Amino acid sequence: MAAAPPVVVVGAGQAGSDTVAALRARGFAGRLTLIGDEDTVPYHRPPLSKEYLGDRAPARDDDRELELRPASFYEDQDIELVPGDRALALDRERGRVVLASGRHVPYGRLVLATGARPRSLPVPGTGLTGVLSVRGLADARALRAALRASARVLVIGGGFLGLEIAAAARTSGAAVHVVETAPRLLPRSVSTAISDVVADEHRDRGVRVTTSRRVTALHGDAGGHVRFAELEGGERIPSDLVVLAVGAAPRTRLASDAGLAVRDGILVDARLRTADRTVHAVGDCARFPRPGGGDLRLESVQNAADQARCVAAVICGEEVTYRAVPWFWTDQYALRLQIAGITAGHDRTVTVGDPAGRRFSVLCFRDGRLLGAESVDRPADHAIVRRLLAADHPRLTPDEAARPGFDLKAHQRQLA
Ligand SMILES: Cc1cc2nc3c(=O)[nH]c(=O)nc-3n(C[C@H](O)[C@H](O)[C@H](O)COP(=O)(O)OP(=O)(O)OC[C@H]3O[C@@H](n4cnc5c(N)ncnc54)[C@H](O)[C@@H]3O)c2cc1C
Repeated sequence: MAAAPPVVVVGAGQAGSDTVAALRARGFAGRLTLIGDEDTVPYHRPPLSKEYLGDRAPARDDDRELELRPASFYEDQDIELVPGDRALALDRERGRVVLASGRHVPYGRLVLATGARPRSLPVPGTGLTGVLSVRGLADARALRAALRASARVLVIGGGFLGLEIAAAARTSGAAVHVVETAPRLLPRSVSTAISDVVADEHRDRGVRVTTSRRVTALHGDAGGHVRFAELEGGERIPSDLVVLAVGAAPRTRLASDAGLAVRDGILVDARLRTADRTVHAVGDCARFPRPGGGDLRLESVQNAADQARCVAAVICGEEVTYRAVPWFWTDQYALRLQIAGITAGHDRTVTVGDPAGRRFSVLCFRDGRLLGAESVDRPADHAIVRRLLAADHPRLTPDEAARPGFDLKAHQRQLA
């Protein structure tokens, strides 16, 4: 029997590590190489904007509890983990990856799992010290140290990442101000009802939240450290630390330089293949077909992990397509928000549960069809809606959900 062609994965994050693990779990016996430009064993990113920044986090540099898998896993599974080296180019004609170290790594199948990087803010002053953003462990260490030394923190961007960092900063005692250009927090991700609850939670905790305003410049002192931000209209916000959290851009350069199609993400088909059938893309860097039409790119652990399992199956010759139900969570203070499905674009919402007690779900519909649910402290609703969405035709209409006494659990039992 011919030996399996070598598989090379570029990007040793969630999607990359899960891809090599899934390949071995499926019995893939060929050579496996995982290349990452960070100096670490692949790790969980979600804690980096949450508990890792808090006072309870150990003030030491032993971050092994963040590892997705221990270093010994890669050795035991005969996976060559190459940390601290960057893939500079793909030579698709010869089927090899060129690394910054000068090494050329041959592949039969290549998986691009290069993730995303923080978007920059196009205003003067972002190069001052005390202006930080977070994507990786090194960034989070720097932010954690800066938080301990900063009394006034400005977070630019009211998305998940910015709000989690604001919550951590506030919990450690800093005066925190969040500025968001949209009229509400989490504008692209959740319904207005949930935006309002999140904004109230931050305000109740003493965070100043400013929406519909843009930061136009950051100004520093003679030593080059940030001192205040200027908003349009001239208002000044004194700050010892400014956190930029204005979104992430997919890392697509390797793919585009190699002539692969890219549009805010590396374009792949439902089997996560680029137009070059030997090259796949997964995780934050991949733009894939949306079941029902169009395409999308997602930045979530669920998407990275599920695409990793899917690409491993495809490489092992299975006829599978990627159809996982998207879901996401965020923790801010004691508030746990879970989102099932993609709720953007809804035209009707129905709230179930106890909004006053902050234990409720917003069910989101479009054209009478359930798109998903946004749940505050209602994990059972979240789990049920994920199951409903996984069924091809989620049979729940807004009128049914709005009926007095409607019970999501009873509804699911009826369908079972
Ligand atoms: C601070 C933070 C908090 C988050 N919180 C949540 C959360 O609560 N819930 C949730 O669902 N998601 C959360 N996410 C998003 C989630 O972590 C990502 O969606 C997930 O990590 C994506 O995995 P990935 O493998 O595609 O990318 P990454 O995990 O970013 O991994 C990509 C890796 O590829 C490396 N790389 C890139 N280019 C090259 C190259 N040329 N050569 C070698 N290596 C390269 C990168 O350095 C990186 O290590 C969070 C993200 C961050 C940053």
